[in-house]
Amino acid sequence: MKVESGLRFFKKCLKALNIQSARIPADKSSIANSQSKKDSIYQLTWITDYLAVGYAPMSYVELDSIREQGIGAIVNLCAEFGDLHEIEENSGFEVYYLPIPDETAPDMEDMEKALAWLDEAVYLGKKILVHCRHGIGRTGTFATSYLLRRGLGLKVASRKMKYTRATPTNYRQWKLLRKYGKKSGVLKIREPSLEARNVVDLSVYFTDYEALIQKIDEDLNRANNTVSNIKKCGLETDECCFHYIDLQLIEAIYLGNVMNRTFKSDLRAEVIRRAVGVCKNIRGLKARLGEKGYDPIKDRQCLVEAYVREQILCPLNRESKCTLYEHRPIRCRLYGVPKDSVDLDLINNTLFDISRNVFFAFSGSFLEGRALSFSLPDTVSGRFIQEYFYYLASLETD
Ligand code: SF4
Repeated sequence: MKVESGLRFFKKCLKALNIQSARIPADKSSIANSQSKKDSIYQLTWITDYLAVGYAPMSYVELDSIREQGIGAIVNLCAEFGDLHEIEENSGFEVYYLPIPDETAPDMEDMEKALAWLDEAVYLGKKILVHCRHGIGRTGTFATSYLLRRGLGLKVASRKMKYTRATPTNYRQWKLLRKYGKKSGVLKIREPSLEARNVVDLSVYFTDYEALIQKIDEDLNRANNTVSNIKKCGLETDECCFHYIDLQLIEAIYLGNVMNRTFKSDLRAEVIRRAVGVCKNIRGLKARLGEKGYDPIKDRQCLVEAYVREQILCPLNRESKCTLYEHRPIRCRLYGVPKDSVDLDLINNTLFDISRNVFFAFSGSFLEGRALSFSLPDTVSGRFIQEYFYYLASLETD
């Protein structure tokens, strides 16, 4: 591999992240365009590709309409409706509740916490609605502060919001924005992600991977009673959750993507925290094996056995159940299934083929020789991305 490949890949990631972070419609035409969807029961006003503003929904029909327009998360600013955020949450939205009394401005520290939450939701590809009661003053203040945080100056941000009804309405709200505008403006770079949009369309690889999963599940269901009656790991038993599991590249990217799409931020943070703890345990285990003269990289079996002996639990397991059961890796689906009941070579080769294609799409280089694999805890903690870069770097020096 040439040196440029890794760099090119890295640059692509950074470029995509910048586009993602600062993706603001160029002019009022895009706002007008989004407003032209008059057929929706609830009228959203899109400020960026990911952020919309609006008013407090007052019926389940309106909540359905919001969901149908792609919104997955809500910042609710209504102090006057103490129950609304719970109704929104029970309707399946991820909700950040920042109660602000009408005609007032939020406390700066509280607003920054809400903005940090919003940042993460946008980063994870969620579409977010910000609303107060009428969608004017408090919503305008909050949405404008988001634009300031994205690096727009107060003048540009205000001009952007001018074409919506969401604008600050009083001195206290403008004062807060002026104060916030002075201290913000620095975009924090986030960790690289293999799923940064506009770099590679992953859907085609995910479709291939899901087709493989579907075929495995169908084969297992069709198999004889001995196989089809085996307890499903992650649901009926958690035995496999104490085993060391490696994932090929496509599985790691897929699992990370599903976590980002489906977990609410507190669950995601908790699972990542547990994964980091498991990774630390594994490092300790490797060190102890090294002291005994084993090489846990070359002699993988000794690591696998020691891992089981230590009873280290998968970070995705919660109260004996898999938090991503529907999307669990193939190894978990096959746990306990006799080796001669499935064509393991075919499965591994198919995984390798999809991984090779996705690797090429990302790096512009061929993945030759061996399959790239990552431990499940490294995948869940996000550390596998770092390992991926190490791998690219090692190819460059070969
Ligand atoms: S992914 Fe789910 S089923 Fe597989 S080991 Fe982890 S918790 Fe268990």
